[in-house]
Amino acid sequence: MNIMANTLDRGYFMYQKEFEEKALEVLRSGWYVLGREVSSFETEFADYTGCRHCVGLASGLDALWIAFRILGIGSGDEVLVQGNTYIASVMGITINGAVPVFVEPDEFYNLDASRLEEKITDRTKAILVVHLYGQASNMEEIMKVARRHNLRVVEDCAQSHGAKFHGQKAGSFGDIGCFSFYPSKNLGAFGDAGAIVTNDDRIAEEVKIFRNYGSEKRYYNKVVGTNSRLDELQAGLLRVRLRHMDELEQQKREICERYLKELDKEKFVLPRIRKGATHIWHQFVIRSDRRDELVEYLKKKGIGSIIHYPIPPHLSEAYRYLGFRKGSFPITEKYAESVLSLPLYYGMKKEEQSYVIEWMNRF
Ligand SMILES: *Cc1c(COP(=O)(O)O)cnc(C)c1O
Repeated sequence: MNIMANTLDRGYFMYQKEFEEKALEVLRSGWYVLGREVSSFETEFADYTGCRHCVGLASGLDALWIAFRILGIGSGDEVLVQGNTYIASVMGITINGAVPVFVEPDEFYNLDASRLEEKITDRTKAILVVHLYGQASNMEEIMKVARRHNLRVVEDCAQSHGAKFHGQKAGSFGDIGCFSFYPSKNLGAFGDAGAIVTNDDRIAEEVKIFRNYGSEKRYYNKVVGTNSRLDELQAGLLRVRLRHMDELEQQKREICERYLKELDKEKFVLPRIRKGATHIWHQFVIRSDRRDELVEYLKKKGIGSIIHYPIPPHLSEAYRYLGFRKGSFPITEKYAESVLSLPLYYGMKKEEQSYVIEWMNRF
């Protein structure tokens, strides 16, 4: 058997007819950027997250950097962020000239709220919370710290569409929630797409203006903005997938419950779920001290896997200028050396799951 870490066409074929009908509808409509599909998607996705507003954008990275730009966080300001995130989170901060201040993660791979306060200085302006792998972070503690120190909170929800903490959806806790709809995300488009959600009317309005060259009315430009528009085709296709999110979430949950039950707990560190949090299983991430050996072994059996992420941002070449060394963040680095994401995708067959479990356990 040959099982790739991800197989995106399966998720397309599940609703092939609906996707194709929508694509044709948009193609025939004569309107391709920022139109009816986008505004309908914005309304529906705002509802889905329990926020007042959603503004569609061109990518998850755009959502992040535009969020900090609109909050006025830039040169010289510090933003707290977990060390073990995808590098895009960090770029969302540094594109604006702000400085990322890394915080070690907890055992759930999310920001360790108990380590936040020691990192706060008089330049700290915000916390960027990444709900990594699909599990909601400890928002109760994080929001307490933010309130105590008057910090803004931005949520990176690129991996956590629909995840909840104490019943409340990711993206709705802080000032702005940032989403990516990159094809491999749980709510994926068929190209690049992103969005912000917020309960703040002013922020929503400003992002709307900013994404379209700073213009509210065509050719009347209020601010120097950018082009980060969501197109009609992606918005329409996202609306189709959004209608099925509950059943899609359930499907991944069933696969991961099987992994949790059947994988050898002596051999691998399996994911744990925080009390009060839900996990929407963007990734199923295990840890092994013999990770690299495991990757090679699985490859020989025809099983793909991915490391999220092999090089933590503080050790990447891109951020060498921050001056960190190996050993600066031991927990983050330990995770980078031992994490592995197992195959997980919509439409993954029972026999494919069994095959992964069997060979994993024989390692
Ligand atoms: C995917 C991802 C992003 C970036 O989203 P793009 O749409 O690829 O720009 C940001 N943060 C996290 C945690 C992600 O997983």
